[in-house]
Amino acid sequence: MTNRSPLNRDDAGPSPLPTIPAQLRAVLNGIPAMVGYWDTGLRSRLANDAYCKWFGIEPQDLNGMHVRDVLGDAAFEATRPLIERVLAGEAQQFDRTLVDAAGESRYTEVTYTPDSRDGAVQGFFVVVTDVTERVLADRRRQRDMDRYRALARSVPGVFVLLFDAELRYLIAEGQELETFGYRAEELEGRRIQDVLKGDLASELEPRYRAALAGREVSWSRQIGHRTYRLKAGPVYSDEDATAGMVVAVDVTERLQQQQVWEALHEIATAVARNAAPADISERVAAIVRELFNVDSAAVVRFTGASSAEIVAMAPTLPPTLSRRHIFAPTDESATVRVAVTGKPALVVYRPDGGPAAEQMRAGGFQSAAAAPVRVRGSLWGVVTLTSKSRTGVTEAMMERLAQFAELVEIAIGNTEAWTDLELQATTDALSGLPNRRALEQHLAEQVALAGSRGTNLSAVVLDIDHFKRINDTYGHLTGDVVLAEVAARLRAAARAGEFVARFGGEEFVWLLPETNGAEALRAAERAREAIASQPFGDVGFLTISAGVCEQRDAMAGSLLDCADRALYEAKSAGRNRTSRYGHPTQAVQSAGEQALGSTRASGRGA
Ligand code: GH3
Ligand code: MG
Ligand code: MG
Repeated sequence: MTNRSPLNRDDAGPSPLPTIPAQLRAVLNGIPAMVGYWDTGLRSRLANDAYCKWFGIEPQDLNGMHVRDVLGDAAFEATRPLIERVLAGEAQQFDRTLVDAAGESRYTEVTYTPDSRDGAVQGFFVVVTDVTERVLADRRRQRDMDRYRALARSVPGVFVLLFDAELRYLIAEGQELETFGYRAEELEGRRIQDVLKGDLASELEPRYRAALAGREVSWSRQIGHRTYRLKAGPVYSDEDATAGMVVAVDVTERLQQQQVWEALHEIATAVARNAAPADISERVAAIVRELFNVDSAAVVRFTGASSAEIVAMAPTLPPTLSRRHIFAPTDESATVRVAVTGKPALVVYRPDGGPAAEQMRAGGFQSAAAAPVRVRGSLWGVVTLTSKSRTGVTEAMMERLAQFAELVEIAIGNTEAWTDLELQATTDALSGLPNRRALEQHLAEQVALAGSRGTNLSAVVLDIDHFKRINDTYGHLTGDVVLAEVAARLRAAARAGEFVARFGGEEFVWLLPETNGAEALRAAERAREAIASQPFGDVGFLTISAGVCEQRDAMAGSLLDCADRALYEAKSAGRNRTSRYGHPTQAVQSAGEQALGSTRASGRGA
């Protein structure tokens, strides 16, 4: 019996134990933990009900039991070093997962406190606190936080802030945070008043408090070129609802996309209203400049293989910049790059960039982008942006600009198609001259203009003599060719600002602004000569008659009626002559040609 080690149960025989007084039991049971006392022989000397219940041992049975019998061999061996240390006078504290008698596992905090009296350790107290609920809650919170972090990290253009009732950031996660000028590590664990710059904390506090009170608040913040939508709201967890969350989302693209569509709608509306391509280009330049927040934007049209023209520009074309440009394929310019490659281009102007770059740099411009505009398959021009900053035009803009250029294509394409239709509707296909509809429009405008300015206006109505015979003799196709040739000669006879239209059949109308009746008569004679003097291929010579009227002479009825009456006079007087309304009909000078023309035409017909 020399080995007195208390750790060996066999060495220390059971000694008689006094029963625990009821009063002490009551005190022990009042402690919200499992409490026990083990003597140096490792026999249970004291235990509250919770302790006994945990091990599933009746209090009277536990009293005097050896720790090995209570814990079981494996647990005893694991605990042995701790017991040795507490018996050496050293308090022990550790966490332990315990499985109770019912098989349920609990998280506990355990303390071993030595009972040191009279200079020796007499035994030790065990206090086991069940912290299962707290551990589980911590785990849940951690899991929630991990989720927030994962969310914030995985969604681009987003950041998430979680804050507690003291307005202290628990989580600050997301790359976008840096755009706002903060790093996660300087926010987490700190109160907004201590960490946010300027007046931001006082601005945010009411929103954060509202979130803590269960309301959702949203607001926007503009940072540089980007727009963020922020939303604060409550976060409910199992224990309490005293946390709030802020989610910030970069909505720049969405807003820009929306603006692009609004712009498209505006342009489409303009196209539908038959706005002039120049006006549409003007709108496009203004919209694009605003959308991309650049110093200038323009719609440029290629007018040749190495020439371009600024159709529209926002802000308006400065006097230092010419509207028309001749370029070399080597010029450093976004527009020229598009002309050469047919693809969107981005250019940063360098000092050695040649004349084009020089001109741009002189205007203070540093970077530019251009996207091609194709109309019905061919390169029509570009939509271009320029910035006074080297970084003002970015790759990121290119995609949207190209997308925008597509919209411009539709607008320009539609407008050009419409212009073609309009042209078709006002042009006579056979002669290429404006038709009667166009004449009526033009005549109304000219009459109004002459009226308001008090200027002269004259009209000439011209009709081919005996044209029916030509059809009858040579057929309608030849008749058509002759009609086209007559039209060409009349057009050649007219001067700039004058207007020749095919009125119908083999009848033409010639409007002469700022021309009096006498001058118009001379002009008509010139045209008559032009027809009568040269033969029309196989058909030979032919003649026309003309009636002239001046706006002043056309007292009653319209100018055309008046000229028509004069024409009738010319016909009655023998054809191949010009008659002026209200004046005696002139004789024809080249009577020989008239005779030749009629003779040949009628001769063949006979
Ligand atoms: P007048 O000297 O009195 O003007 O005699 P005309 O034969 O020229 O006059 P009329 O009005 O009797 O005949 C005009 C002819 O022009 C009749 C019509 O067949 C022909 N015509 C009208 N339009 C066209 C056309 O587009 N092509 C052809 N080939 N003939 C046409
Ligand atoms: Mg005729
Ligand atoms: Mg006729």
